[in-house]
Amino acid sequence: MNHYGVDPLPGLPGRVTICEVGPRDGLQNEAGLVPVEVKVELVERLVDAGHTVVETTSMVHPAWVPQLADAEEVLRRVDRRPGVRYPVLVPNRRGLDRALDLGVTDIAVFGSATESFAKANLNRGVTESLEMFAPVVARAREAGLHVRGYLSMCWGDPWEGAVLISQVVSVATRLLGLGCTELALGDTIGVATPGRVASLIDALLAAEVPLDRIAVHFHDTYGQGLANCLAALQRGVTTVDASAGGLGGCPYAKSATGNLATEDLLWQLDGLGVHTGVDLGKLVETSDWLAKELRRPSPSRTVRALTQG
Ligand code: MG
Repeated sequence: MNHYGVDPLPGLPGRVTICEVGPRDGLQNEAGLVPVEVKVELVERLVDAGHTVVETTSMVHPAWVPQLADAEEVLRRVDRRPGVRYPVLVPNRRGLDRALDLGVTDIAVFGSATESFAKANLNRGVTESLEMFAPVVARAREAGLHVRGYLSMCWGDPWEGAVLISQVVSVATRLLGLGCTELALGDTIGVATPGRVASLIDALLAAEVPLDRIAVHFHDTYGQGLANCLAALQRGVTTVDASAGGLGGCPYAKSATGNLATEDLLWQLDGLGVHTGVDLGKLVETSDWLAKELRRPSPSRTVRALTQG
């Protein structure tokens, strides 16, 4: 789809896994309710486009996130294919029970690097939230599940401003110590810049966090998403989160432009010759279809460039 030439840059991985977060992180921020059949079709189309990790939904209480109240129905209806992972957000033991009953093999818990966001999002402090996750992660690991530990506000927090690297490293290692198999570093309000990204990854590596456990989750609020991804890839990170069509935002960021768009990321990775297995053309068709279902244009510049004119 990128017909304008491919040239690699030195120091980049040959292959990157994109963790597609659109159906969960994207749709949970939609103002209106999206019909279950649209969600199921979205997940299946993303897999058809070549995605091997599609974060599908969330087992949080419907009162918190009414947009994802149909989690069980979505999971029952999606044709889950071998070799594809369909992570589900699980906040507590009850959520894990529901996920296990539905044959889920991948879960994610949602931690915060800062006290302020832990209290706003989880209604408890950092230590108390880790204590809540501990039995969930232990039981999930016993059941053989892959467990992603999200860490929000790694580079900045709307209440606390800049976040100390030492604080992020401390919470990150505690989260991994619970048994999480992956750590997803979230720039929840999109304020990171590439040097800050490199510094945090270097600090995690110095704390003996294995590189292959680290994933990055960037938001494009200040237009830094792609630059930050490139900085992470140059440090050797090989798992990058992105959201089809740029779906989703952060309710805590004032100018809530959302998740890094998967198509924009793919345009860059395809041009760098970094293999992802995801077909840009099929993904653009999917985001174009979804934009029509949601009755508003995709914020992805690549989707716009390839669908207009
Ligand atoms: Mg996000």
